Order: sequence, then structure tokens, then C-alpha cells
Amino acid sequence: MIYIIGSGFSGLTTAYALNKKGIKSTVISPGEKYKTKNISLIKYLLKNNGEILNNSNFLSKKINKLNKANVINCKYLLSHMDGGQSNIWGGVVGNIGEYNYNDSHIKKSEILKYKKEIINLLKIINIKYIKKKNKKINSYLLEKNYSVSKKDVSNLKRYLLKKKVIFKNNLFVKKIDLKKSILKIHDIKTNDQISLPYTRLFLSCGPIETSKLILNSIKNIKKIVLKETQHFYALIKVNHNLKSRFFDAKCGKYKFSCQLYSLKNIVGLFFKNYLKNLNSFNKNKFFIGQCYLHSNYSGKINISKKSNKFIIEGKPNLRFNISQFKTDIKKFNKQNKILKIKKLFFNKIGASNHLGGSIPVTNNKNIKLGVSKFGKLNNQKNIYISDSSILNDIDISPITIFSLNNILRMILSNKKI
Ligand SMILES: Cc1cc2nc3c(=O)[nH]c(=O)nc-3n(C[C@H](O)[C@H](O)[C@H](O)COP(=O)(O)OP(=O)(O)OC[C@H]3O[C@@H](n4cnc5c(N)ncnc54)[C@H](O)[C@@H]3O)c2cc1C
Repeated sequence: MIYIIGSGFSGLTTAYALNKKGIKSTVISPGEKYKTKNISLIKYLLKNNGEILNNSNFLSKKINKLNKANVINCKYLLSHMDGGQSNIWGGVVGNIGEYNYNDSHIKKSEILKYKKEIINLLKIINIKYIKKKNKKINSYLLEKNYSVSKKDVSNLKRYLLKKKVIFKNNLFVKKIDLKKSILKIHDIKTNDQISLPYTRLFLSCGPIETSKLILNSIKNIKKIVLKETQHFYALIKVNHNLKSRFFDAKCGKYKFSCQLYSLKNIVGLFFKNYLKNLNSFNKNKFFIGQCYLHSNYSGKINISKKSNKFIIEGKPNLRFNISQFKTDIKKFNKQNKILKIKKLFFNKIGASNHLGGSIPVTNNKNIKLGVSKFGKLNNQKNIYISDSSILNDIDISPITIFSLNNILRMILSNKKI
């Protein structure tokens, strides 16, 4: 039996690609059936200073108890419900050609080979694929043409159900018994412990949960380090008409990508208290920018297991110097005439949940934690990682499109699957 662990966009894309090859699969997830427990984005976004903590308190508490997890200086989105984090996905689709392929074993042409397939997949999800080119405004700003249409996993799931993909809910995979090829599962509803034999496994649980599962299952791996973008919000005054609300900015030695939200928009809403004191500003010209710094400044999330407990700890990157950054922003404001950055709100590493790019794609079999270019876990039989854990870089904001495209490539181009 072929199991996919996780029912977010990554897991469902894995099922989609397997189905294209005529391979039957079963998707496992701990959440209730999607739609029976729809989520309110506002409720979760506004919690705790705008940081998203989790989308199902009940499941998160229960699973943390099962996992004995200690969370230090790191608030992460647990996403245990059916569809996971993908159900509150912002839905921004960038250009797949823009990803940084330089440090990767995978060539850009290998990824772009599956462009037709990604367009098909986006059609099923009901997202428009964007072809337009980016436009340089001046030496500091690059305007980007992205498409935005917020979508959850329901259309893709309905499509897969028609294709006879099996979905099993309320199941949390605790451990993989690698020797016996058996999944050790906790039934969330009945509290029963279940053992399921597998022939092939695809881990699509999101970077943190995928890491926990690996640490639980492979004894000689003690620690996994994930990357997280240094992320901040900014109050931005726009002096000229922009054609797109997405841009890349060059600001001294720093580079970041930004997405503008109106103050009435949901992201603007969680700055409501701050904006109350800004009566003298002409609000129409102000936006909230959600910004991601280049991956040179990404922080880390360390996940380790000690005396049967997980410790999950956010660590900022010391190369990122806030006071230097603020000085560079001041210069940027003087130099460019298009927009002025008035106020910065920094997210703590471990709170913004823009994670990925941590499990190396390598040909070196001596590396304990690495995957082949098909996502196959080093030295393990029939175990593949198929989510953003193995992406190369995460500094560009719309990460999901790259992840999905990479999953299509991994499965469709692997003759052994
Ligand atoms: C507020 C917000 C906005 C975002 N906006 C954008 C955007 O605009 N553009 C963009 O590209 N990306 C965006 N992202 C990132 C995007 O949401 C993620 O990249 C994407 O959803 C990840 O999909 P996934 O399938 O890998 O993980 P998830 O959607 O989190 O799915 C993981 C699945 O694994 C299951 N699972 C976990 N552990 C286990 C276990 N042990 N056993 C069984 N099942 C398990 C979960 O229940 C879930 O079904 C945003 C993220 C957030 C939080």
C-alpha cells in the first residue's frame, strides 16, 4: 500500500502525480473532514499580535501531548487539520521561473519541463496561472506580476476523490518502523494504536511535522535545522501609481520582496490599534507591506529530541543587523521617489511560519539527512519527502508554486516510481 502523509497542497499534489502514473494511493491526515471544521482566518491571524499560532487548538494540544513537544522561543503553526496550512494559504502564485536554482542539484530546465502539468493542477485548484513579465521601475524597485486568488484544497480533493484516491482522516502518524515497513498510527477519535504495513511512503506533513516524524523514526538523526525567512511588516506610503501590489526592493546591502495590503484588508486590520494614532496621515496613500528578506538573512528553527521530548527553538540570524537595516531604509527613502517606508514591525523567527529549504538534495550517501533529486530519503527504502522541506531557498514569498512544481517533477520524472 502506498501512503501519503499529509493532506495539504503538497500531499494532494503527490496523489495527483501518482494518479497520472496510474498508481493508487491513500492520503492520511489527523484532521476532521475538510469543511466540517472551516476556519476563520481573522480569528487566527488576530490572535497574539497577529501571529498565527495554530488552526485547531484541540488537535494541536492533543498532538503536542502525544509528541511530548517543548516549544522554546518559537511559535509555529501546527496545521494539523485536514488540508493543513494550505487551507489558510494566501493564494499568491508567482512565476515558477523565478526560483533560485543556482545552489540546487536540480536544473531549472528539469523543473520547467512540468510547466504544462502545473498549469493543469492550478486549473483544478481554480487558480489562474500568470505569464506576465516583471518590470524594473528604477534601480531600487522591481514590480512583479503575480496572480492572487485565495484557494483552499477542496477542489483538488474533490478531483482526487473522483479518481479513487482514498482519504483517511483522524489518523496521526507517530512513527515509521523502517525495518518492518510499518506505520505506527494514533487514531485521534478512538485513541487506538494502529499499525499499517506500507510498500512506499511520501512524507508531506510540512517542514516541522516532517522533521518530527523523521526524528521519531530514524535513531541516528538527532537534530534537524529548518530555515525561516526573516520577515517583517512595514507601514508604506506610496507616492506614485503602482501597477502591481508586489515588488522587490533593493535597500543598501539588503534585498527584500514585498506585498502591499490596503489598511482595510485583513493584514491592515491587525495594525488597527497602531493606526488609531495616525489621524494626521492621509490613509489612502498608506499600505501595509508584508516583506521577506533575502535568504542570506534567514533564521533557523532547531528541532531536536532529548529524553523522549521534542525541543523546537527559533534562532535569528546574527548576520541580520536591525540598526544597520533601519539606516539603510532611511537612505532608501531618500533615494527613491516611489515609496517611503515609515514604520517597521519585525516578526520573531519561529513566528512567521515561512519555512522550508532544509533537507539537502545530495548525491552523497554519507550524509545522514539528505534526499536524492527525486526526494528519496538517504539510505532508506521507499521513503520520499514531498513537501517544501527540500526546497532550496525560501526568500521569495509565493513558496507553494515551487514546492508543487518540484513534487510533480520528482514523481513524474522518476522511472522507479
Ligand atoms: C498566513 C499564510 C499565508 C501564506 N501565503 C502564501 C502565499 O500567498 N503564497 C504561497 O505560495 N504560500 C503561502 N503560504 C505558505 C503555504 O501556506 C505553504 O507553503 C503550504 O500551505 C504548505 O503546504 P503543505 O501541503 O506542504 O503543508 P500543510 O498545508 O501544512 O499540510 C500538512 C499536512 O500534513 C498533516 N500532518 C502533519 N503531521 C502529520 C502526521 N504526523 N501524520 C499525519 N498527517 C500529518 C496535516 O494535517 C496537514 O494535512 C502562506 C502561509 C501562511 C501561514
